[in-house]
Amino acid sequence: MSNHRPRVVITGAAGFIGSHLAETLLDRGFAVVGIDNLSTGDVANIAHLVNRDFTFIKHDVTNYIYIDGPVDYVLHWASPASPIDYLELPIQTLKVGALGTHKALGLAKEKKARFVIASTSEVYGDPLEHPQRESYWGNVNPVGPRGVYDEAKRFAEAMTMAYHRYHGVDTKIVRIFNTYGPRMRVNDGRAVPAFIGQALRNEDVTVFGSGQQTRSFCYISDLVDGIVRLMEAPTNDPVNLGNPHEMSIEAIATTIIRMTGSSSRLVYKPLPTDDPKVRQPDITRAQTLLGWEPRVPLEEGLTSTIAYFRTKLGIGRSELPRDL
Ligand code: UDP
Repeated sequence: MSNHRPRVVITGAAGFIGSHLAETLLDRGFAVVGIDNLSTGDVANIAHLVNRDFTFIKHDVTNYIYIDGPVDYVLHWASPASPIDYLELPIQTLKVGALGTHKALGLAKEKKARFVIASTSEVYGDPLEHPQRESYWGNVNPVGPRGVYDEAKRFAEAMTMAYHRYHGVDTKIVRIFNTYGPRMRVNDGRAVPAFIGQALRNEDVTVFGSGQQTRSFCYISDLVDGIVRLMEAPTNDPVNLGNPHEMSIEAIATTIIRMTGSSSRLVYKPLPTDDPKVRQPDITRAQTLLGWEPRVPLEEGLTSTIAYFRTKLGIGRSELPRDL
């Protein structure tokens, strides 16, 4: 790498993960250029970065991306990422996974930058192998409602490997499993923010299906640490990042109700189409290649996340008994 201060372009920088990545890379001495069209991102997530070596460009990366000056890394994070968002924005989801990935790869090629794509455990679909290793090809319904996201990300991985093999771009693929933490949108529809929002308001907590389907939840700081390690890793193969601690959705709902001291009750709603029945990352590759594994226990991560949503929703602790 050249001897100037490393410079990274992050698409989706105003989103949940993108904004944490931007902040961590600034802390580590990078100059950061953040791009976002704010369709699901929020400038409030990056407002505190303005006085640092951070430039924000409001732009839809399905169109040509022009960046002045050198770029050492391109991190392509732009995409709707919650089931509600990609059901509301199906065409945009397909476009940013396909056209947006093409533009971001084109930028990396032009600048001779390293490239990292945010892929997803959704490439495994409703998995028939458990836990999921990177060698598993997945069980995805291309024409179901989740297909717009799953297939966009599968296409994005294929496009990334084509730029690696044909153009020699040094590319990395991170398959992100369920991640939670501050800066998720309370209404984005994902389980953790939905349950915390409902519990803090003492509303019914909506468990879909029987609640026996499983997920494995990773705290945001662990995920970001893994991504930063992957940026430097000598691999172009996909790497799973997530927390292997698997639990049922009913169990996480109950945990959140207990931790918020809520009077909410569980209510059971229909299971969305093609909702995966199980999900747990095999992180052997990340452990071996990156020396990485998650460190933040669920209750510690939930404590920070609940505190964030309390502030965001303006719901203090005053209504709770003193000993909680
Ligand atoms: N879920 C739920 N209630 C909600 C939101 C989600 O029971 O209000 C379930 C959903 O059906 C899935 C799991 O929680 O089985 C995780 O959903 P999420 O949208 O967070 O992410 P996914 O892993 O499905 O992409």
